[in-house]
Parts: sequence; C-alpha cells; structure tokens
Amino acid sequence: MTERKTQSITLELIDEAAMLRFGNRIAAAINWALKNPFENDHSEKIIEPALLIALQGDLGAGKTTLSRGVLTGLGHVGAVKSPTYTLVEPYELALGQVCHFDFYRLQDPEELEYMGFRDYLVESQLCLVEWPERGAGFLPKADMLIEIVQLHKGRKLTLSAQSEQANIIISQLDREADEVTSAD
Ligand code: ADP
Ligand code: MG
Repeated sequence: MTERKTQSITLELIDEAAMLRFGNRIAAAINWALKNPFENDHSEKIIEPALLIALQGDLGAGKTTLSRGVLTGLGHVGAVKSPTYTLVEPYELALGQVCHFDFYRLQDPEELEYMGFRDYLVESQLCLVEWPERGAGFLPKADMLIEIVQLHKGRKLTLSAQSEQANIIISQLDREADEVTSAD
C-alpha cells in the first residue's frame, strides 16, 4: 500500500468563457487519464465504476456553465440543458454514457430509487452532479469535489480529490495549468 497524496487545486476564473475553457480542460484531463491508466504506478482502473464529480456552490455560482464546458470538451455538440426540472440529462459520448444531474428540486433522495436513477449511476462513465448534498444517501462518495464561490468579479474554484482516479486527473490538470493560482 502506498501513501496517497490527496490533490487539490484552487483557481480563479474571470468570466463565463474562462469557466467553459476550464471545463474543456477537465474533460481533456479525464481523457488523458483514460489513456494513461498506469502512469504514476497506479494500477487502478480509471473511470470504472463511474467517476462522480460533485459541483457545490450557490444558485448562479456557475455549476451548469462548468458542466457545459466538460460536456463539450468530451465531444458533445449542441445545447446543454440545465437538468433543474428533469433532474438528469444523459449524454452518449465517445467516453460512454455521461449523466448531468441537478438535485436542487429534489424533495427526498429516496425518490431517486423509485425513479430508477440507480441505473444512471451504474451505467455512466462520468456523472456530474449539481446540488449533491440533496441527493445524500443515494449518491456514493464523490471522486472529486468542485466548490465554486462567487467573487466580486469571476469565480473561485477549489477542486479536491477524494479518490485515486481524481488524484490522477487533478495532478494532470495541475501539471498543465496556466490559470492555476495556487497548487496543493
Ligand atoms: P449554477 O448552475 O451554479 O446555478 P450557472 O452555470 O447557471 O450557475 O451560471 C450562472 C451565471 O454565472 C451565468 O450567467 C454564467 O454566465 C455566469 N458565470 C459562470 N461562470 C462564471 C465565471 N467564472 N465568472 C463570471 N460569471 C460566470
Ligand atoms: Mg445549474
């Protein structure tokens, strides 16, 4: 057993365009990790089971914007609908199934079981979850936590790894970062 060094990065993104670009970079890091599963001596398989990314932040923080950047970065073409009313928007991408959840309007996490949401989790390669706290009890522990805070101008993002998979992805992001203001 090797000691795990937990990665986290903090950065500031000045506007919506920067947010979308950073979402693209997260997508590229996920794709990179998929292609280099044994880099850094990690023999763990990447992305299986699903990689779960929890997006935390107030209404208007930019969770959907960042998700849009990730989805387009993974090859989605066209609009990205906010899943506020449907609770989930599934996508079929090169990676496999990717689900974008928003649990803001969820009354009770137990409803998710009745609605068959377990299948979305199990069958997805990647899940992006807005308002994960409202799905507590249903959702497994996130691999990566992204906290978004509104600044006077722009947003501050903190990415924290909670699994080895996320560690690898964040390390990769960190390595190629130019906008990153502080690391670890
Ligand atoms: P959420 O899903 O967290 O409720 P949205 O993604 O819908 O938030 O974004 C809300 C607003 O914030 C949008 O008008 C979007 O253009 C803006 N926004 C997103 N990211 C940034 C950023 N980094 N800086 C400034 N404004 C942003
Ligand atoms: Mg949203």
